[in-house]
Amino acid sequence: MRKIDKPSGVPAALQRRQAELKEELLTKQPKFWKNKHYAQPTKKDLKEIYENKCGFCETILKQDESNKGFTIDHFRPKTNYYWLALEWTNLFPLCKKCNKIKDDNFPTKNAKIQSPPIDENGNFILSKCLATSEELLKEQPLYLHPEIDEPLNFFRVNKDGKFFPKSDINDFDLERANEMINKFLGKENLENERKEHIENITNYLRKETSNFLEYCSEDYTDREIRLSFFSVFKTIFSLGDKKQEFSLVGYYMNENFDKFFLDEYELSVQELIKYAYRLFLEEMNTTQK
Ligand SMILES: [Zn+2]
Repeated sequence: MRKIDKPSGVPAALQRRQAELKEELLTKQPKFWKNKHYAQPTKKDLKEIYENKCGFCETILKQDESNKGFTIDHFRPKTNYYWLALEWTNLFPLCKKCNKIKDDNFPTKNAKIQSPPIDENGNFILSKCLATSEELLKEQPLYLHPEIDEPLNFFRVNKDGKFFPKSDINDFDLERANEMINKFLGKENLENERKEHIENITNYLRKETSNFLEYCSEDYTDREIRLSFFSVFKTIFSLGDKKQEFSLVGYYMNENFDKFFLDEYELSVQELIKYAYRLFLEEMNTTQK
């Protein structure tokens, strides 16, 4: 899971839908709202904004022309929050697995709002429909909202691809982190996929390291280091990019490079890789300036 910067402007197709269904949005009609009423372009927009990934588990969404391989989820389910069925800040893409688990569940610490915010003229108070509005945040949802909450403040990841709550967070955030891990992010199949993802890059580094040790003399030069290690380091660096599948894991690979990659080597080799990595980071910093 990564924090997503969704543009606040509501896409035209969704605005048209909101206008067409203005009346329906004001009344609870479970049967009516069972159907999908957002427009197809909205689905495409959301997929792009979320870098083609599930808003929760970061798996790549299935590519097919009709975009049927994933679903647009309502953060607050439309069974209860029917007035948010077409609310831009309430819509985000989920893979089918996460969507199935989420279903119509929406655990909150405080009581849920049961009716739409309407002014004396019978119009929506739009500001109270935003996911960031004080009214909605007061419910204290247990699920994290990818556009509001910063997942880096809730989770840490180990090199087996397992998620854990961060240790320095308050009780409520701990509850939320655990809820997300237990329901979505800690599923065995996902852990295995992330573990494989980490193993692939670990194997790549292992291969480059063993080549280096075999072919380079003891008084190696920085040039030799560059040639041997920089391409694998570039790959590790790129895995933290939000565009990548499981990029939260990639982020922690870079943050905790030693813990992720060095344990298996004897000390002298650890020093070599650490030196090479430092050299890489220094050069990255100079080229980025
Ligand atoms: Zn998912």
